[in-house]
This record gives sequence, structure tokens and C-alpha cells, in this order.
Amino acid sequence: MTRVLADSFGSAADRSARLDRLEDWTGRDLHGRAAEAERAEREATEAGDVAARMRARLIRADIAERTGELRPAAEAMWRINEWAHAEGHRYLIARSHLLLGRTYRNLGDVAALLDHAVAAVEALPDEVPPRRRLPYVVKYADALTETGSIAAARERYRQAEVLARYSADIRDRIMVLNNHAYAEYLAGDPQRAWAVVRRMRVLAAAHGHALDPNDLDTVASVQIALGRHAEAEQTVLAAIAAYPDGPQEADALPEFLLTLAVTRRLGGDPAAAQATLDECRAQCEAHGHQEILVRVMQEQAELYAARGDHARAFEEHKRFHAAEKEVQSEAREAQARNRQALFEVNEARQEAERFREQARRDPLTGLRNRRFVDENLPGLIEQGTRTGVPLWVALFDLDHFKQVNDVCTHEAGDRVLTAVARLLSDAATEAGFAARLGGEEFLLVVSGMDGATVTAHLDRVRQAVAAYPWSPVTGDLAVTISAGVAGARPGSDQADLLARADAQLYRAKRGGRNRVCREMPPDTVGEPDSSTRSGDGPMEAACSAVSPPSP
Ligand code: GH3
Ligand code: MG
Ligand code: MG
Repeated sequence: MTRVLADSFGSAADRSARLDRLEDWTGRDLHGRAAEAERAEREATEAGDVAARMRARLIRADIAERTGELRPAAEAMWRINEWAHAEGHRYLIARSHLLLGRTYRNLGDVAALLDHAVAAVEALPDEVPPRRRLPYVVKYADALTETGSIAAARERYRQAEVLARYSADIRDRIMVLNNHAYAEYLAGDPQRAWAVVRRMRVLAAAHGHALDPNDLDTVASVQIALGRHAEAEQTVLAAIAAYPDGPQEADALPEFLLTLAVTRRLGGDPAAAQATLDECRAQCEAHGHQEILVRVMQEQAELYAARGDHARAFEEHKRFHAAEKEVQSEAREAQARNRQALFEVNEARQEAERFREQARRDPLTGLRNRRFVDENLPGLIEQGTRTGVPLWVALFDLDHFKQVNDVCTHEAGDRVLTAVARLLSDAATEAGFAARLGGEEFLLVVSGMDGATVTAHLDRVRQAVAAYPWSPVTGDLAVTISAGVAGARPGSDQADLLARADAQLYRAKRGGRNRVCREMPPDTVGEPDSSTRSGDGPMEAACSAVSPPSP
């Protein structure tokens, strides 16, 4: 059934290629992209392809964020991020972090931008081709620039340049150089920025490629910073000429006109500067560019002063200050709104974290589950073997548990499991945890005890289970538990450690149950050469004192 459906909606590879295109979409037609993404999501749902559905949803969240639907967009991004973590879907972990970074940046939180940019690069799977890795590395470099780490950013721009060489589209290579040049300019190093600009121009010329207005804006900014006013003027004129074809926002043209007026004033042509500024003012008034209009006033004051009209310069300056104040208070209000939105986004994230926590617990007993173990045990093993603090794992298995289900009821069995879980949880130490691995098998991770101590500690758990007042639950049937214990050694991994603990559990069962067996020697954990027995050879095992046989 699933297969038939999948076939009627194209193959997974088709869906994936289509989603690639939607993610890489550079056109301005957001509505077209949204409609296409919605279609992709529907078809992925019908084909039962959950990962494709999540990718399509993330594209829709990306578009929603761009069109100002911040809160639902950010919530969706967090939810998809959560799903991706739960499923170990590294590509979507990376992509959701990439987009969350931009969301937080737009809210003014550059620290969060950097966190997400790092997480995105780290999660990106190795098999993603260079061309599609590129945005991740560039965004990471941009985030480093914005948080003041230009030296680290340089390294990443260099890396991005290498990746961009794999792209057939010259615009990818130009984009990297443009972002890098602008980063150097922002970091206050126009000389370095100029060196990058020159490389960008040479590359564009070699490929017969015309720089777009966005690139030209970078070039002009650097030229002005270097005092190359005449050249800057030419650059801005080129940007204006290229404007109607460029992909930039609506306020780009007045921005260019303002820059042009500045270059003309600095270039010593106040009359031309005034004409340009008048044109700019008209554009701003026609399209409501309040923020640029304020800078027009500032430039007007400069221009009056350049012409020696100090009285009008002073008047204009006063107007500029009043207008600036107003814009600033509006900006503060906008910032307050952003902070509110940020707060709401954080709330959404906390919800996602609560969900994440729940997904790592066993619903019957409330103990950690297998997923939690897989995510946390390797780190504890690594830490234990690195620091030499002993780390032990104990596998517990109820004895003859089938009998409880058979003689009593399955509900009684569940109550036994819940009570045992509580006893195990009480025995967990701060650095360790108790988990239910499934069925009636439990894991206790304990750290910081020597071998004899850990055996005694775990044997107390065994005794507590045996001594528990079970009769209200199981009647005459005794409940006991067996455990196998193993310690981490240098080179241990989770599989090896659990297999060794399991071997000891088998010994405990075979030896008559209701006992704790630990691998020997006990005191070599984290000390590679302290014992000749710590190699791969067979080991002795110590089992705890056994209680009287069960009735
Ligand atoms: P042994 O001492 O060799 O471990 O004997 P055993 O009877 O415990 O053997 P085994 O491990 O094969 O049986 C485990 C039983 O646990 C089988 C299954 O019915 C029961 N079980 C697994 N999960 C649950 C559960 O969630 N609730 C209940 N009530 N029983 C469960
Ligand atoms: Mg079992
Ligand atoms: Mg059992």
C-alpha cells in the first residue's frame, strides 16, 4: 500500500531534488516559492515521507519568517529542530539551526546567531556536496564578523572560497568575496577590504560577469572609506544603472542616491551633490523611507556647511537631531516589540525542550530510556576514561519475571517494574543515572566508586528489592533481581561496556539469580597499566553474597 502510494507521488530522490531546488531558491517570488513548498509538503505527506514533509515545512517556516510571521515561523523551526534531533536527521538539524540563526539575528540577538551558525555547521552531514555546504560556512563567517571575531571569520571565508570553486555558478564565488570584503569593511579595515574587492572585480571580469548592485554597494563603501571619492561615484552610478535587475529591497535606490550625494560632496561638486540629494529626498518622501530621510537631513546640513552657509547648516542640523530622536524612539519601541517576540520564541523553545525531555523518559516508570542512554552514556564513558574517575554500568534483570505476569497479572507486573524503578532511581548517584532499557531490564550508571564500594552499593539495591513488601502486589511470589557490573577502561565504548556487563548478568543468572556479579579486577578503571589483567583476556568475576534461596 505504502509502496503504491510512494510510486504515485514520485520517488524519494525526486522529492529530495525538488526540495533542494526550493531550499536554494534565489528568486524574489516568495509567493511562488510558498505555493510550491506547500505542494511539496502535501505530496510528501501523501507518500508517507516524514523527512521530506519536515523539509517542506521548514521551507515554509523560512518564507513565513521573511514575510514577518515571526512567532509561528520560529515555533515551527524549533519543532522541526526537535524532530530532527529525535530522529538523528543531521541535515534537518543543520538546516533548522541555519534558519534559527537568521531569525535570532533579525531579533537583534547576535550571540544566538553565532550559536546557531556553529550548530548548523557542526551538524551538516559529510555527504552534503560543497555547493550546498557553502551557505552554512558563509553564514558562520558572517556570524563571526557580527560578533566581532574577524580573524576567525577570515578563516571561514577562505574555506567558503574553496567550496565555491565547486559551483558552476560564478555568483557563488562572487558572493563569498562580497561578504568577506564587507566584513573587513565593517571590522574597520578598508585596506584589507580593498584587497578582497580587487579580487572580486578581477574574478568577475575574467568571467564576463557584471557585479550586481549589492556587490557594487560594498565596493562603493570601501572606496569612500579609502577616500577614493571619484571612483566611489562611478561605482554608485553603476549600481543605480544595474538597479532594476537587482534582487535588493525597495529602499536600495534611495540608499544609493544618498551615497552618491555623499561622494559628490566629498569629491568637491556641491551643486551635483545637491541635485542628487533632492532626488533622493523625493524618492524617500514618495515611498515613506523615514529612516533614510533622517540621514538626508544630516547630509543636507553637511552640504550647507560645505558651501559655507553655516546658518542654514545649523538650522538643518537641529532638524536632523529632532528627527533622529523621533526615529530613535520608534526604534526603541520596535526593539521592545522584538524583545517580546524573542521571549515568545524562547517559550516555544522551552516547550520543545520539555517535549525532548519527555521523549527521553520511559512512560511506565519515569526512568531514563534507551534513547537517553545512547545520547549520554558515550560521553560519560569518555569522561571517565579521560579523567580516571571510575565509571560503572550495572545491568539489572528481574528474576523469573514471567512468573509474575503469569501467576498474578500483567498489571501486577507493571507495578513491580514501577517499584523496582524507584529503588534503582534512589540508588543513582549524581553523576550517573538509572534507565529502563526495555521490558524488565534496567541500567544503573554509577561513577566515582572503587570496585568493592560499587559492588556493595549495588548489592544494597538487590537486597532492597528482595526485602520490599511485595505481598500486596504479588502475593506469595518473591521478587528478586540480578545484576552484572562492568567498569569503563581506556578504549571502552558503550557496546563493549554493556556487553561485558551483560556477560556478568548472565553469570549472575546462571549462578542462581538474586545476586550481583562484577567483572574483576575492580581497581584498574582508568589506570591502563596498573594491572596485568586489564587486557582483553578473560577476567575473574566477583559475585555478591547470595541470599537464602527463594521459596
Ligand atoms: P530470568 O530470570 O531468566 O530473567 O527469567 P524471566 O522470566 O525474567 O525471563 P525473561 O527475561 O525472558 O522474561 C521477561 C518477561 O518480562 C517477559 C515479558 O512478559 C515481561 N515483560 C516485559 N516488559 C513488560 C512490561 O512492560 N510489563 C510487564 N508486566 N511485563 C513485561
Ligand atoms: Mg529479561
Ligand atoms: Mg528476567
